[in-house]
Amino acid sequence: MIKYSKRIDKIPPYLFADLDKKRQEVAARGVDVINLSVGDPDLPTPKKIIEVMKREIDNPANHQYPSYEGMPAFREAVSEWYKRRFNVDLDSDREVISLIGSKEGIAHIYLAFVQPGDISLVPSPAYPVYNIGTILADGTSHVMPLLRKNGFMPDLDAIPQEVLSKAKIMMLNYPNNPTGAVTSIEFMRKAVQLARKHDIVLCHDCAYSELTYDGYVAPSILQVEGAKDIAAEFHSLSKTFCMTGWRVGFFVGNRQIVEGLAKVKTNVDSGLFQAIQHAGIAAMNECDEESAEICEVFSERRDIIVKGLTDIGYDVSSPKASFYLWTPVPHGLKSIEFCKRLLEEAGVAVTPGVGFGAEGEGYFRIAFTRSKERLEEAVDRISKIKF
Ligand SMILES: *Cc1c(COP(=O)(O)O)cnc(C)c1O
Repeated sequence: MIKYSKRIDKIPPYLFADLDKKRQEVAARGVDVINLSVGDPDLPTPKKIIEVMKREIDNPANHQYPSYEGMPAFREAVSEWYKRRFNVDLDSDREVISLIGSKEGIAHIYLAFVQPGDISLVPSPAYPVYNIGTILADGTSHVMPLLRKNGFMPDLDAIPQEVLSKAKIMMLNYPNNPTGAVTSIEFMRKAVQLARKHDIVLCHDCAYSELTYDGYVAPSILQVEGAKDIAAEFHSLSKTFCMTGWRVGFFVGNRQIVEGLAKVKTNVDSGLFQAIQHAGIAAMNECDEESAEICEVFSERRDIIVKGLTDIGYDVSSPKASFYLWTPVPHGLKSIEFCKRLLEEAGVAVTPGVGFGAEGEGYFRIAFTRSKERLEEAVDRISKIKF
């Protein structure tokens, strides 16, 4: 008989699988389902980036194994982008590595810093990989609840001393998925202080730092003085340049932390296809305008969905970043129940909050990754449900 390892058995059931199945059933009945459940932009990658990829794919120099840590030119482009964008200095040689998408790096970081039984500080609701990466490293997640009354930031003072003394790694993510919340440099300063005091590796997932609205500018945790003693940051080109399918990200910050992840990766993968690295360089160097245009599209969509849902009585707050609305479930329904009814009765797919952790119960997530017309139609259909 085939038996899975204990760590595989410990991975929580995929709560969305049931709803995915239901969505397919509803679609099979001929319903034109509006899918607002995926955090994947529907816009194409900017042309400039595609042109570079087409050129580089013809160059035989790019057909061999890439270097594990990324080409020097890619790491220099990251370092220059960080200087320009955050005024943070990075040694491209020692403080930057490429990732095959940031999810890959997030999943692997725990193998570098967590021993069996160690504690990992994980927010909830959250991107599931933080908890799953911890489980795959045989660690134990300590949940930091993200509550509305705290602006969806963890209450760092509420983490018990005995947890802090056993914690090896803390993950933060702002702008945040799924809540759309943003943070302040003051909060980051506090997190850095706490991490330094307890020798906790502090990781910040910055995937949405460029997808911001209304003039809001997201900080890097490395802007905090002393952060580089203890912190590192995950970045991705997926959301900034609509490149989710390309798989390109990077990890920067404290050199020992970066080296820790590099050590795992050197033994697991063989780097990022060089043609993609060239395309990533073009994105970082030449596509500020394109990235601003992408933000403009999402900002208009945000306004439409926020106004539409507010007008029909939902308690919606307008996010300053990300493409997510995190909204309380009405009528005291459980989030899964509510999402099933939206699917069955309106043909609109959204994500139940509980899928991002127990603390997400009571909310649902809308990804405004569809056109304005589809968003308007979704609101119209939702307005007709009789609860
Ligand atoms: C989309 C996303 C990422 C980026 O994933 P890639 O693997 O780089 O495509 C990372 N963190 C969060 C919270 C995300 O939502």
